[in-house]
Amino acid sequence: MVVIMKPDAGDRDVAGVVERIKKYGMDVHISKGKERTLIGIIVDEREVDFNSLAALPGVDRALPILRPYKYVSRNVHPQGRTIRVGDVEIGKGLVFIAGPCSVEEEDTTLRIAEQVRQAGAQLFRGGAYKPRTSPWSFQGLREKGLKILAKVRRETGLPVVTEIMDSEDIDLVGRYTDVYQVGMRNMRNYSLLAKLGKVSKPVLLKRGDSAKLEEWLAAADYVVRNGNEAVILCERGIRTFEDFTRNTLDLNAVAGAKVESCLPVLVDPSHGTGRADLVPQMSRAAIAAGADGLLLEVHFDPDKAWSDGMQTITPAELAGVIRDCQAIRQVVTAKGKA
Ligand code: PEP
Ligand code: MN
Repeated sequence: MVVIMKPDAGDRDVAGVVERIKKYGMDVHISKGKERTLIGIIVDEREVDFNSLAALPGVDRALPILRPYKYVSRNVHPQGRTIRVGDVEIGKGLVFIAGPCSVEEEDTTLRIAEQVRQAGAQLFRGGAYKPRTSPWSFQGLREKGLKILAKVRRETGLPVVTEIMDSEDIDLVGRYTDVYQVGMRNMRNYSLLAKLGKVSKPVLLKRGDSAKLEEWLAAADYVVRNGNEAVILCERGIRTFEDFTRNTLDLNAVAGAKVESCLPVLVDPSHGTGRADLVPQMSRAAIAAGADGLLLEVHFDPDKAWSDGMQTITPAELAGVIRDCQAIRQVVTAKGKA
């Protein structure tokens, strides 16, 4: 729940509320805004007497949240969080994470990485462990792929993002990656999410393809509740009746996640559409909807990509996407909406 103090409430009033909450044996999170102080209470709301809190001096309102998430709520962090990866601050300016669906042979992967860097990407993506629908499809280069990612980081300076599929691999993947990606299939793997709460690297949490916004945010809360505050959300499309595209990119959820949560929100228009010819348009739309950046599949020869070639754009197309998105971002931030 959140206690909203009156604009003229003083430090004594805040201390009075904190003292009362501590009596309940609960943690508080104080957020001092320009005009008001908010006191977030991390608690099972059923144990709190809202009326007695609302009656304390200096309190304007005591609001139950009654949502399945608390830590990642915008109420707790009204200004929004930013997450640092190397020199990049995700949640500040736009961030572009680009690379092939799967990590491929070393020379190909390094060539893609150099080209996406030149196109303006600040982070590199590539799956070494691939969650494929069919067990007969290519499953990823595994540790060999992780070593190639480490080489990409050394040679290009780009931090890398790669998927963690199994909690057994957390230490191994952590030796090579800068950001753990949790794919849409694992968004509901709560024991994996809890374990990622114990690591010291950011987690990029993709939305499950049938997850409601609040389920996605609750999944993020599993990570934060277990100690890791550095979570980045990524909308990647949901399943609908529409099969014209691979998924339906849910831009409502992008705008909604920015309103409801304090976490940075990225968009993956590659999986969101499944079609390279729609990626530029939906990239622009995502930034217009308030996204903090994009995760894109890019390859210099999409037809030869080891997976997801149909939704993969070229480095030259990426450069165009980045240029257009930066222009749109200026409009969005000029209006103070992002
Ligand atoms: C990916 O980004 O490589 C991926 C497998 O995405 P998703 O989990 O969104 O399907
Ligand atoms: Mn893919």
